[in-house]
Amino acid sequence: MEKPAFLDRDRPDVPGLVVPGGVTPFYLAGRPVRGRLIRTGILADAMLTRHDNPAQVTALAGKALALVAALASALKFQGSFSLQIKGDGPVSMLVADCTHDGALRFYARKDDAALDSLLASNPAPTDRELLGNGYLALTVDQGADMERHQGIVEIAGDDLSAMATHYFATSEQHACWIMLACTLTDAGWRSGALVLERIAGAGGLADTELSTPDDAAHDDSAWETATILATTLTIAELLDDSLPAPQLLHRLFHEEDLHVSQSRALAFGCRCSRARLVDVLQRFPEDDLDHMCVSNDTIVMTCEFCNKDFHFPRKDIASAMG
Ligand SMILES: [Zn+2]
Repeated sequence: MEKPAFLDRDRPDVPGLVVPGGVTPFYLAGRPVRGRLIRTGILADAMLTRHDNPAQVTALAGKALALVAALASALKFQGSFSLQIKGDGPVSMLVADCTHDGALRFYARKDDAALDSLLASNPAPTDRELLGNGYLALTVDQGADMERHQGIVEIAGDDLSAMATHYFATSEQHACWIMLACTLTDAGWRSGALVLERIAGAGGLADTELSTPDDAAHDDSAWETATILATTLTIAELLDDSLPAPQLLHRLFHEEDLHVSQSRALAFGCRCSRARLVDVLQRFPEDDLDHMCVSNDTIVMTCEFCNKDFHFPRKDIASAMG
Protein backbone atom coordinates (compact mmCIF):
# COMPACT_ATOMS: atom_id res chain seq x y z
CA MET A 1 0.00 0.00 0.00
CA GLU A 2 1.28 3.44 -0.82
CA LYS A 3 2.28 5.49 2.18
CA PRO A 4 0.02 8.55 2.56
CA ALA A 5 1.85 11.64 1.40
CA PHE A 6 1.65 13.39 4.78
CA LEU A 7 3.59 10.53 6.43
CA ASP A 8 6.41 10.81 3.93
CA ARG A 9 9.22 12.62 5.74
CA ASP A 10 11.14 13.14 2.49
CA ARG A 11 8.42 15.10 0.82
CA PRO A 12 9.61 18.48 -0.38
CA ASP A 13 8.68 21.22 2.02
CA VAL A 14 6.70 23.49 -0.33
CA PRO A 15 3.30 21.72 -0.48
CA GLY A 16 1.73 23.62 2.42
CA LEU A 17 1.60 26.74 0.28
CA VAL A 18 -1.83 27.58 -1.05
CA VAL A 19 -2.82 30.80 -2.79
CA PRO A 20 -6.58 31.10 -2.03
CA GLY A 21 -7.71 33.46 -4.80
CA GLY A 22 -5.24 32.35 -7.48
CA VAL A 23 -7.85 31.81 -10.19
CA THR A 24 -10.71 34.26 -10.83
CA PRO A 25 -13.14 33.16 -13.57
CA PHE A 26 -15.46 35.74 -15.17
CA TYR A 27 -17.71 36.29 -18.16
CA LEU A 28 -19.21 39.22 -20.01
CA ALA A 29 -22.99 38.76 -20.10
CA GLY A 30 -24.63 39.00 -23.52
CA ARG A 31 -21.24 38.71 -25.18
CA PRO A 32 -19.38 35.62 -26.49
CA VAL A 33 -16.60 36.12 -23.96
CA ARG A 34 -15.44 34.30 -20.87
CA GLY A 35 -12.08 34.51 -19.16
CA ARG A 36 -9.85 33.80 -16.22
CA LEU A 37 -7.46 35.98 -14.31
CA ILE A 38 -4.55 34.08 -12.77
CA ARG A 39 -2.22 35.36 -10.07
CA THR A 40 0.15 32.82 -8.62
CA GLY A 41 1.15 35.10 -5.71
CA ILE A 42 3.79 33.78 -3.31
CA LEU A 43 3.51 30.34 -4.90
CA ALA A 44 5.41 31.52 -7.98
CA ASP A 45 8.36 32.64 -5.90
CA ALA A 46 8.42 29.45 -3.81
CA MET A 47 8.22 27.18 -6.85
CA LEU A 48 10.48 29.07 -9.24
CA THR A 49 13.33 29.57 -6.75
CA ARG A 50 13.53 25.81 -6.03
CA HIS A 51 15.22 25.51 -9.41
CA ASP A 52 18.65 26.82 -10.24
CA ASN A 53 17.74 28.71 -13.42
CA PRO A 54 18.88 32.09 -14.74
CA ALA A 55 16.25 34.84 -14.41
CA GLN A 56 15.35 34.63 -18.12
CA VAL A 57 14.44 30.94 -17.79
CA THR A 58 12.65 31.55 -14.48
CA ALA A 59 10.47 34.20 -16.17
CA LEU A 60 9.59 31.78 -18.98
CA ALA A 61 8.73 29.03 -16.49
CA GLY A 62 6.59 31.42 -14.43
CA LYS A 63 4.57 32.31 -17.52
CA ALA A 64 4.11 28.60 -18.27
CA LEU A 65 2.74 28.08 -14.74
CA ALA A 66 0.23 30.92 -15.15
CA LEU A 67 -0.80 29.55 -18.55
CA VAL A 68 -1.52 25.99 -17.35
CA ALA A 69 -3.32 27.36 -14.28
CA ALA A 70 -5.61 29.32 -16.62
CA LEU A 71 -6.22 26.38 -18.93
CA ALA A 72 -6.79 23.81 -16.16
CA SER A 73 -9.37 26.04 -14.49
CA ALA A 74 -11.62 25.57 -17.53
CA LEU A 75 -11.68 21.76 -17.15
CA LYS A 76 -15.22 20.49 -16.66
CA PHE A 77 -14.16 17.25 -15.00
CA GLN A 78 -11.40 16.01 -12.74
CA GLY A 79 -8.05 15.77 -14.43
CA SER A 80 -5.02 17.75 -15.44
CA PHE A 81 -3.85 20.09 -18.15
CA SER A 82 -0.25 19.88 -19.24
CA LEU A 83 2.01 21.94 -21.49
CA GLN A 84 5.13 20.43 -23.06
CA ILE A 85 7.46 22.37 -25.29
CA LYS A 86 10.42 20.68 -26.98
CA GLY A 87 12.74 22.76 -29.08
CA ASP A 88 16.30 23.03 -30.34
CA GLY A 89 17.09 26.10 -28.21
CA PRO A 90 19.09 26.29 -24.94
CA VAL A 91 15.89 25.43 -23.03
CA SER A 92 15.29 22.12 -24.76
CA MET A 93 12.23 21.11 -22.76
CA LEU A 94 9.66 22.96 -20.70
CA VAL A 95 6.92 21.04 -18.91
CA ALA A 96 4.20 22.53 -16.73
CA ASP A 97 0.98 21.03 -15.52
CA CYS A 98 -1.99 21.87 -13.36
CA THR A 99 -4.86 19.75 -12.06
CA HIS A 100 -8.56 20.76 -12.06
CA ASP A 101 -8.17 21.74 -8.41
CA GLY A 102 -5.17 23.99 -8.99
CA ALA A 103 -2.13 21.81 -8.14
CA LEU A 104 0.78 23.19 -10.15
CA ARG A 105 4.27 21.97 -11.04
CA PHE A 106 6.90 22.54 -13.73
CA TYR A 107 10.42 21.84 -14.84
CA ALA A 108 12.73 23.21 -17.49
CA ARG A 109 15.58 21.21 -19.00
CA LYS A 110 18.44 23.34 -20.26
CA ASP A 111 21.79 23.13 -21.94
CA ASP A 112 23.94 25.29 -19.66
CA ALA A 113 26.70 25.96 -22.19
CA ALA A 114 24.27 26.97 -24.92
CA LEU A 115 22.33 29.11 -22.46
CA ASP A 116 25.47 30.89 -21.21
CA SER A 117 26.51 31.64 -24.74
CA LEU A 118 23.05 32.99 -25.70
CA LEU A 119 22.83 35.17 -22.58
CA ALA A 120 26.36 36.52 -23.07
CA SER A 121 25.42 37.94 -26.46
CA ASN A 122 21.72 38.58 -25.73
CA PRO A 123 20.86 39.25 -22.07
CA ALA A 124 17.15 39.70 -22.81
CA PRO A 125 16.24 36.84 -25.15
CA THR A 126 12.65 36.24 -26.27
CA ASP A 127 10.90 33.05 -25.22
CA ARG A 128 11.45 31.88 -28.79
CA GLU A 129 15.19 32.45 -28.60
CA LEU A 130 15.30 30.37 -25.40
CA LEU A 131 13.18 27.54 -26.83
CA GLY A 132 14.24 27.56 -30.48
CA ASN A 133 12.28 25.74 -33.15
CA GLY A 134 10.23 22.73 -32.24
CA TYR A 135 6.84 21.68 -30.97
CA LEU A 136 4.30 22.73 -28.40
CA ALA A 137 1.82 20.18 -27.07
CA LEU A 138 -1.14 20.62 -24.79
CA THR A 139 -2.66 17.54 -23.17
CA VAL A 140 -5.92 17.21 -21.30
CA ASP A 141 -6.04 14.10 -19.16
CA GLN A 142 -9.38 13.55 -17.47
CA GLY A 143 -8.80 10.16 -15.93
CA ALA A 144 -9.11 6.55 -17.03
CA ASP A 145 -12.75 6.86 -18.16
CA MET A 146 -12.13 9.78 -20.50
CA GLU A 147 -10.16 9.89 -23.68
CA ARG A 148 -6.89 11.76 -23.37
CA HIS A 149 -6.83 14.73 -25.71
CA GLN A 150 -3.55 16.04 -27.09
CA GLY A 151 -2.88 18.68 -29.70
CA ILE A 152 0.56 19.49 -31.12
CA VAL A 153 1.64 22.51 -33.14
CA GLU A 154 4.93 23.94 -34.26
CA ILE A 155 6.35 26.68 -32.04
CA ALA A 156 5.22 29.97 -33.62
CA GLY A 157 5.64 33.51 -32.31
CA ASP A 158 8.17 35.28 -30.13
CA ASP A 159 6.66 34.75 -26.72
CA LEU A 160 4.75 32.04 -24.89
CA SER A 161 1.42 33.88 -25.10
CA ALA A 162 1.73 34.07 -28.91
CA MET A 163 2.69 30.37 -29.03
CA ALA A 164 -0.38 29.41 -26.97
CA THR A 165 -2.70 31.69 -28.99
CA HIS A 166 -1.36 30.08 -32.17
CA TYR A 167 -2.03 26.64 -30.68
CA PHE A 168 -5.70 27.43 -30.00
CA ALA A 169 -6.22 29.09 -33.37
CA THR A 170 -4.72 26.21 -35.37
CA SER A 171 -5.15 23.03 -33.33
CA GLU A 172 -8.51 23.82 -31.73
CA GLN A 173 -9.96 26.47 -34.09
CA HIS A 174 -10.69 28.43 -30.97
CA ALA A 175 -10.10 32.18 -30.64
CA CYS A 176 -8.27 33.14 -27.45
CA TRP A 177 -6.56 36.28 -26.24
CA ILE A 178 -3.73 35.50 -23.83
CA MET A 179 -1.48 37.74 -21.76
CA LEU A 180 1.23 36.16 -19.62
CA ALA A 181 3.73 37.86 -17.33
CA CYS A 182 6.40 36.87 -14.83
CA THR A 183 8.87 39.27 -13.25
CA LEU A 184 10.94 39.64 -10.11
CA THR A 185 9.07 42.23 -7.99
CA ASP A 186 10.03 43.73 -4.61
CA ALA A 187 8.02 40.90 -3.03
CA GLY A 188 9.78 38.15 -5.03
CA TRP A 189 8.86 36.41 -8.27
CA ARG A 190 5.26 36.90 -9.36
CA SER A 191 3.47 35.49 -12.38
CA GLY A 192 0.02 36.02 -13.81
CA ALA A 193 -2.23 35.56 -16.81
CA LEU A 194 -5.31 37.10 -18.33
CA VAL A 195 -7.03 34.75 -20.77
CA LEU A 196 -10.13 35.57 -22.83
CA GLU A 197 -11.92 32.85 -24.77
CA ARG A 198 -14.42 33.41 -27.50
CA ILE A 199 -17.31 31.05 -26.91
CA ALA A 200 -20.49 30.15 -28.76
CA GLY A 201 -23.55 31.94 -27.39
CA ALA A 202 -23.41 34.78 -24.92
CA GLY A 203 -21.58 34.90 -21.61
CA GLY A 204 -21.23 31.16 -21.30
CA LEU A 205 -24.98 30.56 -21.68
CA ALA A 206 -26.01 28.13 -24.39
CA ASP A 207 -27.61 29.87 -27.32
CA THR A 208 -30.37 27.59 -28.52
CA GLU A 209 -31.72 29.84 -31.24
CA LEU A 210 -30.21 29.92 -34.69
CA SER A 211 -27.85 32.84 -35.03
CA THR A 212 -28.41 35.47 -37.68
CA PRO A 213 -25.86 37.57 -39.57
CA ASP A 214 -26.73 40.42 -37.18
CA ASP A 215 -25.86 38.23 -34.20
CA ALA A 216 -22.57 37.25 -35.82
CA ALA A 217 -21.67 40.90 -36.42
CA HIS A 218 -22.61 41.73 -32.82
CA ASP A 219 -20.47 38.85 -31.54
CA ASP A 220 -17.47 39.89 -33.67
CA SER A 221 -17.69 43.42 -32.41
CA ALA A 222 -18.17 42.37 -28.75
CA TRP A 223 -15.14 40.06 -28.96
CA GLU A 224 -13.05 42.80 -30.52
CA THR A 225 -14.09 45.30 -27.81
CA ALA A 226 -13.17 42.83 -25.05
CA THR A 227 -9.72 42.16 -26.50
CA ILE A 228 -9.04 45.88 -26.98
CA LEU A 229 -9.96 46.53 -23.33
CA ALA A 230 -7.78 43.61 -22.22
CA THR A 231 -4.82 45.11 -24.08
CA THR A 232 -4.89 48.11 -21.69
CA LEU A 233 -3.89 45.87 -18.76
CA THR A 234 -0.30 46.53 -17.68
CA ILE A 235 2.13 43.94 -16.32
CA ALA A 236 2.41 46.00 -13.12
CA GLU A 237 -1.37 45.76 -12.57
CA LEU A 238 -1.47 42.07 -13.43
CA LEU A 239 1.24 41.28 -10.87
CA ASP A 240 0.17 43.74 -8.14
CA ASP A 241 -0.66 41.71 -4.99
CA SER A 242 -2.40 44.75 -3.48
CA LEU A 243 -4.89 45.14 -6.35
CA PRO A 244 -7.72 42.61 -5.76
CA ALA A 245 -8.70 40.55 -8.81
CA PRO A 246 -12.37 41.71 -8.94
CA GLN A 247 -11.19 45.34 -8.81
CA LEU A 248 -8.69 44.76 -11.62
CA LEU A 249 -11.37 43.10 -13.78
CA HIS A 250 -13.83 45.91 -13.00
CA ARG A 251 -11.27 48.45 -14.18
CA LEU A 252 -11.03 46.66 -17.54
CA PHE A 253 -14.57 45.48 -18.23
CA HIS A 254 -17.02 47.55 -16.12
CA GLU A 255 -18.92 48.71 -19.22
CA GLU A 256 -19.23 45.15 -20.61
CA ASP A 257 -21.66 43.64 -18.07
CA LEU A 258 -18.87 41.89 -16.20
CA HIS A 259 -19.78 38.95 -13.95
CA VAL A 260 -17.02 37.72 -11.66
CA SER A 261 -17.37 34.13 -10.44
CA GLN A 262 -16.12 32.47 -7.26
CA SER A 263 -12.33 32.48 -7.15
CA ARG A 264 -10.35 29.26 -6.71
CA ALA A 265 -7.08 28.26 -5.08
CA LEU A 266 -3.70 27.36 -6.54
CA ALA A 267 -1.14 25.19 -4.76
CA PHE A 268 2.12 23.38 -5.27
CA GLY A 269 1.19 19.98 -6.63
CA CYS A 270 3.89 17.48 -7.34
CA ARG A 271 2.61 13.94 -6.87
CA CYS A 272 6.04 12.44 -6.20
CA SER A 273 6.71 10.46 -3.03
CA ARG A 274 9.26 7.88 -1.88
CA ALA A 275 6.59 5.22 -2.11
CA ARG A 276 5.81 6.08 -5.71
CA LEU A 277 9.50 6.13 -6.68
CA VAL A 278 10.08 2.72 -5.03
CA ASP A 279 7.20 1.46 -7.09
CA VAL A 280 8.96 2.70 -10.25
CA LEU A 281 12.31 1.16 -9.24
CA GLN A 282 10.74 -2.23 -8.54
CA ARG A 283 9.71 -2.48 -12.17
CA PHE A 284 13.39 -2.74 -13.24
CA PRO A 285 15.29 -6.07 -13.30
CA GLU A 286 17.96 -6.63 -10.63
CA ASP A 287 20.77 -6.06 -13.18
CA ASP A 288 19.48 -2.62 -14.08
CA LEU A 289 19.09 -1.73 -10.43
CA ASP A 290 22.75 -2.69 -9.86
CA HIS A 291 23.77 -0.40 -12.71
CA MET A 292 21.82 2.50 -11.25
CA CYS A 293 23.85 2.41 -8.04
CA VAL A 294 26.12 5.32 -7.31
CA SER A 295 28.47 5.46 -4.33
CA ASN A 296 27.66 3.51 -1.16
CA ASP A 297 25.34 1.19 -3.05
CA THR A 298 22.71 3.84 -3.19
CA ILE A 299 20.23 4.59 -5.94
CA VAL A 300 19.39 8.25 -6.40
CA MET A 301 16.12 9.25 -8.05
CA THR A 302 15.52 12.90 -8.83
CA CYS A 303 12.09 14.45 -9.10
CA GLU A 304 12.70 17.11 -11.72
CA PHE A 305 9.51 18.95 -10.75
CA CYS A 306 10.60 19.34 -7.12
CA ASN A 307 14.31 19.48 -7.96
CA LYS A 308 14.87 17.01 -5.17
CA ASP A 309 16.98 13.86 -4.88
CA PHE A 310 15.59 10.80 -3.17
CA HIS A 311 18.18 8.27 -1.92
CA PHE A 312 17.41 4.55 -1.67
CA PRO A 313 19.82 1.93 -0.30
CA ARG A 314 20.21 -0.71 -3.03
CA LYS A 315 19.57 -3.52 -0.52
CA ASP A 316 16.10 -2.11 0.24
CA ILE A 317 14.92 -2.36 -3.34
CA ALA A 318 13.81 -5.76 -4.59
CA SER A 319 12.92 -6.11 -8.22
CA ALA A 320 9.38 -7.24 -8.80
CA MET A 321 10.69 -8.94 -11.96
CA GLY A 322 12.60 -11.51 -9.91
ZN1 LIG B 1 8.14 15.96 -7.10
